[in-house]
Amino acid sequence: MPPSKGNAPDLSHVRNIGIAAHIDAGKTTLTERILYYTGASHKIGEVHDGEAHMDYLAEEQAHGITIMAAVTQCPWKNHVIQVVDTPGHVDFTIEVERSMRVLDGAVIVLDGVRGVEPQTETVWRQATRFDLPLMFFVNKMDRPGADFGRSMESVQKRLGGEPVPVCVPVGDEVVHLVDKEVYRFEGERGEQLQVRPCEPELWEEVAEFREAMLLAAADLDDDIAEIVLEDGEPEPEALWAALRKGTLERKIHPFLGGTALKNQGVQPLLDSVLKLLPSPTQRPQASGTDMEGNPVPVSMDAKGPLAALAFKVQLIDGRRHVFVRLYRGSLHPGDNVLLAGTGETERVARIFDIDANKKKRIEAAYAGQIVLLAGMRKATTGDTICQVDEPVLLESIQTRDPVLGLAIETDSTQDEKKLLEVLQKFQEEDPTLVLEEDPETGQRILRGMGELHLQIAFERLEREFKLKIRAGKPAVVVRESILGTGQGSSEFHRVFEQEEARIEMRANATAQVESLPRDTGIEFVLSPTIEPDGAQLKADQLQSIEDGARDAATSGPLQGAQLQDLKIQVQKVETFGPASSPQAIRVAVAEAVRKAIASAGSTLLQPVMATEVVVPEESLGGVLGDLQARGALIHDTRTELGTASITCDAPLQKLLGYTTDLRSMTRGRGQFTMTFDRFDAV
Ligand code: GDP
Ligand code: MG
Repeated sequence: MPPSKGNAPDLSHVRNIGIAAHIDAGKTTLTERILYYTGASHKIGEVHDGEAHMDYLAEEQAHGITIMAAVTQCPWKNHVIQVVDTPGHVDFTIEVERSMRVLDGAVIVLDGVRGVEPQTETVWRQATRFDLPLMFFVNKMDRPGADFGRSMESVQKRLGGEPVPVCVPVGDEVVHLVDKEVYRFEGERGEQLQVRPCEPELWEEVAEFREAMLLAAADLDDDIAEIVLEDGEPEPEALWAALRKGTLERKIHPFLGGTALKNQGVQPLLDSVLKLLPSPTQRPQASGTDMEGNPVPVSMDAKGPLAALAFKVQLIDGRRHVFVRLYRGSLHPGDNVLLAGTGETERVARIFDIDANKKKRIEAAYAGQIVLLAGMRKATTGDTICQVDEPVLLESIQTRDPVLGLAIETDSTQDEKKLLEVLQKFQEEDPTLVLEEDPETGQRILRGMGELHLQIAFERLEREFKLKIRAGKPAVVVRESILGTGQGSSEFHRVFEQEEARIEMRANATAQVESLPRDTGIEFVLSPTIEPDGAQLKADQLQSIEDGARDAATSGPLQGAQLQDLKIQVQKVETFGPASSPQAIRVAVAEAVRKAIASAGSTLLQPVMATEVVVPEESLGGVLGDLQARGALIHDTRTELGTASITCDAPLQKLLGYTTDLRSMTRGRGQFTMTFDRFDAV
């Protein structure tokens, strides 16, 4: 399958899917099985041995988590499933988002005991944003307390999904509700499938699930509805077609289950991916805009002009590689392409088929494929790559501002130079990692999405680049806002005498600021009355009004932090002929706005995290008390089967080091996840 020389692959036989889940639900374990059964890997690496094939960065193996979304091709029954393993840790949500953007469908893995967990909700929201068709795999069915039906219920209740059972685990077998068959997984690794027609007693056991599936199919298809109404038995093919249609339209969410660790239930999942999730051609057309911002359709056509999205940059063997998804047209080594956003062009040196940790050169890539490009120096995450004379912009990838920072320094200036170079490369791979210099102290601050995110960056600096770095304590990124309203005016006047010349700069300005609700950003109102009457401002003078207002908003009076949640209105600008240069206006406006801000009074905003803490019931009291002492606002506490989950908002500042504290409060059994929610006064 795709692609040898020359011909576009048959896309109806391709599935680009992601596997996503709350941490520890078993994504990596499941993915390992998929690789093994599809022959993409010859041995099964277990997560706890630090050997998993998809977790190929050394740091991932040390931390036992998945960081980089790696893509692997899995041939299955005459199709190619391209699996993107997405990370589960919240510090790395940008990785999840990037991969969602280029997927055609996803499998969400649930822990059969826990059902929907906080990160499941995050993944669900992201998938919803990209209209991704979804299936669920209820894993860990071997655990005491695992319950397939209750996991379906949690998706319905907590996510508002429409679960429809397809394959139900019973004991160490799986009953297929559409094909009426039972699967047994024999052999050392469950690779020997034994399939038999379902016997009546077992069928009786799953009758309720079968009924739920039939009713769902009936809802989707009138012919099936008629048959079901008369107690008849619809043909499996008709059922598959109805379920596929419902899944593609995101009306239903098929449910399968098993025990990945014991090699149970994986092959039926692969079959269902082929049957129920869309090929690239079955997805709605990608949307793009032309250079004037007008929407243009981008149809999945290998013969059209090239349109591809760069969704990840990664250093492989020290060289820059760009992951792209082609949406239209084709790409060949040596092609000169346009980066539509920047207007720059560059040449693609090599194209590789994608796999975790191994690369295979190919002669061409076509619409619908995900490939790896080498030789591109400029293309970066979110860029649209297109044919030079057919520019188009695909919707870009959202990046988030980092919320945590660390002061770092090196021992020698030589190391410092190297550090800057390496960090530059890191930032290309990961736009949520940012290096800044504190303008007052000259200190370098590395910012990221969380403690683990920064820690892993350090470990890479030491291990891969042999850099010794000293780091301060992590500190949260802060913002400032104002209280109420404020007024300010300025009279800027300078005269410079230089030899014969006399340069005069002069402008007056008046501004007003007003606080806005949280999380609204800054609103600028920039149409001041101009004095004297009848004075006309040139374009650069008008621009300088905006520049001045923006200058003032970049650093607040409390800690010099970025301001937000306020309206800045420049009310009046008084000009004095040629002395009112753009520069003079800019300074006058900035000063007026600063004075207005100062007169309003300020407040410091800190990152507040939407947090969920899951602990054994007996630790609940202590953990709740501790959370309250950290300034958390508790929204909800739920207890089920001896496990309590607490949903709350908490300031990130107070959650630093919480992983360790929570462990000691719960004898290592507590877990928590957090996602940035907003900057707020705490
Ligand atoms: P991920 O964080 O979602 O990638 O989860 P992993 O695949 O790393 O698995 C987390 C832990 O759960 C590991 O210790 C696995 O061995 C274990 N695990 C995975 N699948 C199963 C399963 O089906 N049953 C049981 N009992 N444990 C499992
Ligand atoms: Mg994993």
